[in-house]
Amino acid sequence: MADPDSTMNRSDFPILDQQVHGRPLVYFDNAATSQKPQCVMDAITEAYTTWNANIHRGTHHLSQLATAKHEEARTTLAKFIGAEHSREILFTRGTTEGLNMLAFCFGEAFIHEGDEIIVSALEHHSNIVPWQMLCERKHAVLRVIPLNQDLTIDLSAFKQLLNTRTKLVSVAHVSNVLGIINPVEEIIRIAHEHGVPVCIDGAQSAPHLPVNVRTLDCDFFVCSAHKMYGPTGIGLLYGKQQWLEQLPPYQGGGEMIEHVRWSGTTYNELPYRFEAGTPDYVGSYAWGVAAQYMQDCGISSIAVHEQELTAYAEQQLSQIAGVRIYAAAQPKTGVLSFNIYDANGKLIHPFDLGALLDQQGIAVRIGHHCAEPLMDHLAIPGTVRISFALYNTREEIDLFIAALQRAIKMLA
Ligand code: PLP
Repeated sequence: MADPDSTMNRSDFPILDQQVHGRPLVYFDNAATSQKPQCVMDAITEAYTTWNANIHRGTHHLSQLATAKHEEARTTLAKFIGAEHSREILFTRGTTEGLNMLAFCFGEAFIHEGDEIIVSALEHHSNIVPWQMLCERKHAVLRVIPLNQDLTIDLSAFKQLLNTRTKLVSVAHVSNVLGIINPVEEIIRIAHEHGVPVCIDGAQSAPHLPVNVRTLDCDFFVCSAHKMYGPTGIGLLYGKQQWLEQLPPYQGGGEMIEHVRWSGTTYNELPYRFEAGTPDYVGSYAWGVAAQYMQDCGISSIAVHEQELTAYAEQQLSQIAGVRIYAAAQPKTGVLSFNIYDANGKLIHPFDLGALLDQQGIAVRIGHHCAEPLMDHLAIPGTVRISFALYNTREEIDLFIAALQRAIKMLA
């Protein structure tokens, strides 16, 4: 895997072996969602063909088997992110639901009029809007950490923002637009000096970097399976047990209760108190298989491979006239955003580039990447974003650069 030309593991992903518009598919939209290895698809088929049954309350064989698979997956994922207990892993529908859940539950328990929550200026909408909604509901205030010139988070401004009204900090581990790895260890340390808990949006870190929530010492962490070679529709919210124990439930229904009487309801223990209704036990099982697959590949090797691809792509891109890459700051994962300006300094619209790249079999993402405040900061309507996974290769970058040059020629 350390060899960036390696196509090791690529054959595990059958979807990649196809032509799009008569050209070999080059899939560079991995920050949006990754492709799935055969073992994950096999796990889903196996679940429905051999052990599907609703979990937890069943006494019969299949139900007990399904329950065991679901809970084993919770343990696998707890280990994957370095959690101390599997009861600190709450299954959600994804990062977005994890953040909404935290905003609701933490908000109910701890946020009052005039309290403050801090996010950064480069967040995904999922780590902005739930906090805005909470602030509106509770008459609290959302504070935003500004960025330095090089688009890194301004840590001295962050220190200035913290005060006795600050109740929570929520920041991305890795920017989904810039690929920059944010100094979250530092942010957590500074926030904790003020007694403030921190939530880390790990949607773009868990798929690409070794993550250990205990080493980070974050209080909450969220991520999505579908960006980690796993299935869609499932994610997790990690919370330190001492925090989760203080939060009220998110939704009411089956599974989350201890007893229901007309006189009132008592709630289940962790983690079930936060998991109303039938959970996605096939999804959790398949995600556990995906996590194991990543571990077998070696998460550090995946990180090195993707970072080498990014460095190569950045070097190739920088030779194209009129290119602007956002941003040069390091360290980075496998995400690169850029725009092309024509000889008159006019932006070639990323939508036009995206369409012409697609015609040549290259899948990239264009637009604001659910980070409109960051686009406003950069004063651009959007970018072209390429993002890598373990199966991408240097040859694909060469195909992409050639296709981009053809597209620019057509548009200039
Ligand atoms: N946060 C970040 C940094 C992301 O990149 C994304 C998705 O792109 C999300 C949150 C939302 O993830 P999901 O759509 O899986 O809920």
